[in-house]
Amino acid sequence: MVDWKKELRNKITTLEQLDKKIVLSEKEKNEIKTVLEKFRMSITPYYVNLIDKNNPNCPIKKMVVPSIEELTEPIFKPNLVEEKKAEPVKGVRRRYPDRALIIPSYFCPNYCRFCFRKFWVGGVEENLTQEEIDNAIRFIKNDTSLREIIITGGEPLALNEKILEYILSELRKISHIEIIRIGTRIPVVLPSRITKKLARKLSKYSPLYIITHFNHPKEITKESKKACDILADKGLPLLNQTVLLKGVNSTVDVLKELFLKLLMLRVKPYYLLHCIDTMGSHHFVTKVALGAELLRKLQGYISGLALPMYVVPTYHGKIPITHNYILKYDNGVYTFENYKGDVFEFVEPKE
Ligand code: SF4
Repeated sequence: MVDWKKELRNKITTLEQLDKKIVLSEKEKNEIKTVLEKFRMSITPYYVNLIDKNNPNCPIKKMVVPSIEELTEPIFKPNLVEEKKAEPVKGVRRRYPDRALIIPSYFCPNYCRFCFRKFWVGGVEENLTQEEIDNAIRFIKNDTSLREIIITGGEPLALNEKILEYILSELRKISHIEIIRIGTRIPVVLPSRITKKLARKLSKYSPLYIITHFNHPKEITKESKKACDILADKGLPLLNQTVLLKGVNSTVDVLKELFLKLLMLRVKPYYLLHCIDTMGSHHFVTKVALGAELLRKLQGYISGLALPMYVVPTYHGKIPITHNYILKYDNGVYTFENYKGDVFEFVEPKE
């Protein structure tokens, strides 16, 4: 059995280590060296082995190996005033009336090159102190309008187990907190971390939803399937967020394969997130219209269970974007377009 702690200790963080694992041209090596002066790299040994050594355009490689394009000036700059406004106490983010995030750590074992939290992740690997965790829990306890808490990061499932259990058990003591979610990429990048023991512990805090982060069908392996099975077998509902990434998963065929395979893993595709042009992610960003068009091409051709909602994350909340299926409305008569492009009328009853 693979020891996940050993995997963590053996993360690939230098060009020399990476060079021993995959084939890199001299040009790539020079470019990676330049990028590493600005942004750090971290890849788990498991994930590096998913890279297709013979394919310079391997989607897995694009997601974790630094590219010189990361140095392109981004359009979006983190707005520190907005960030501050959304952080009532350290470690808590709130943009919606009934939900809040708790971010106990910004540590991630595998840095995604497109990460929209790159400003923090892969920068300071700072964990909340015990006092800060208690302040965050107190804030949540005192605000009875909150009913759902999302534990995110960074990587919550890479936290010390005692700290994770402490947070979960304290949240469960709060009567107005009905739902807890954990946002995690661990089943994708470090599946050995998902043990039966961990799943047993997590299942004590039900209803606890696990939000995974698969972006490409190549990330679905026997190891990641096993990780999802362990969680699902313990009754933990699994949903997935995919980031739409140019050159990685921005085609109908790739998304179709991904969403259908996720369903077979008992993971419901939940969100397709538009990639934000933030630090170093410019080259992954698609047009907003592309996401809506990709889902339009899938709608009706694959099960509705497999279809996520396409959203643009903004400082003003997530904005759902969809193809406009209503062509016209006139005095109780809609003109609809269906998934095949057929146009027809639908009459609604008069009040
Ligand atoms: S797992 Fe999430 S938080 Fe961590 S680097 Fe990737 S996108 Fe960022």
